[in-house]
Amino acid sequence: MNLEDFRPESKLVTKTTQVSKPRFPPIDAHNHLGEEFGGGWEKRPLAELLDQLDGSGIQCYVDLDGGWGEHILNRHLDLFKQPAPERFQIFGGVDWSKWPEKGDTFPEWATTRLRIQKERGAQGLKIWKGLGLQVIDHTGTLVNVDDRRLDPIWETAAELGFPVVIHVADPAAFFDPIDETNERWEELGRHPEWVFTSPPFPSFLHIVEGLASLVSRHPRTTFIGAHVGCYAENLAWVGRLLDRCPNFHVDISARIGELGRQPYTTRRFFLDYADRILFGSDMGPSPEDYQIIYRFLETDDEYFNYNTTPVPAQGRWYVHGIYLPDDVLEQVYFRNAERILLNHG
Ligand SMILES: [Zn+2]
Repeated sequence: MNLEDFRPESKLVTKTTQVSKPRFPPIDAHNHLGEEFGGGWEKRPLAELLDQLDGSGIQCYVDLDGGWGEHILNRHLDLFKQPAPERFQIFGGVDWSKWPEKGDTFPEWATTRLRIQKERGAQGLKIWKGLGLQVIDHTGTLVNVDDRRLDPIWETAAELGFPVVIHVADPAAFFDPIDETNERWEELGRHPEWVFTSPPFPSFLHIVEGLASLVSRHPRTTFIGAHVGCYAENLAWVGRLLDRCPNFHVDISARIGELGRQPYTTRRFFLDYADRILFGSDMGPSPEDYQIIYRFLETDDEYFNYNTTPVPAQGRWYVHGIYLPDDVLEQVYFRNAERILLNHG
């Protein structure tokens, strides 16, 4: 038998709790509605989408897919925000592909676009992981996450009341050589486009330290580090950045696999930073995926799959619930997002 065919079924007899409705109505601070990551809701009926959100108890859904040029932003505002303003927030973005053409005027141009996005109804800014990995300037040079030429963008976001959801780097193992010691080997086999082995790519730490320097240099700007501050494998690192920068927050999207395999550290992290953590799924409005997150946050169930697929996608391990107390659940599910996202603009 090949290892990839191995499907061991756990013989543990432990508690299984079905959590179909969350304890408090969540604001999903990190998700998508577009074709690639969100389930293609541009072409599906809004009523069906609202039914799914209602079925999972989601009060408000942040759609980060406005970012690739304004025609997409406008379409999402028209399709979702306009008919159901209380249920959606649409974030805009920076079109980095214009840098070579705009040259030195790019940062200025990008801030003008942010102002237009704000007028049109966008409520925040999403920065995709290309920054620090792939974005190049007009000389063809890779742009660092904390490049000072971008300062006007972050200052304009602060001025417009745009929280910035920022994703830099990727799981730390994506930057390692792809060999028998790489814990994400199977996943990277399915997604060779996620291999960022360094060199030639910058190192993982260079990129995340760039994020730390960016966040500390712009205290007026509200940053939400996607996927547990972009370093879910090292909560001590994330905690230090949270300690240092009151303008920094994190969402938990797409990292139940990481959080749930270090349940003691994770539980302490949630108790210590209860007012800085935002709920998010990043899996589209899928009821099955929401239920896994609810189970993880609310129960002390042990050793369960963090995905809906037979073999969990990020690696062959299982997770443990962190049974958060009600006051922490309430903050994580919606109070923090309410304060940080909804009070702006
Ligand atoms: Zn995402």
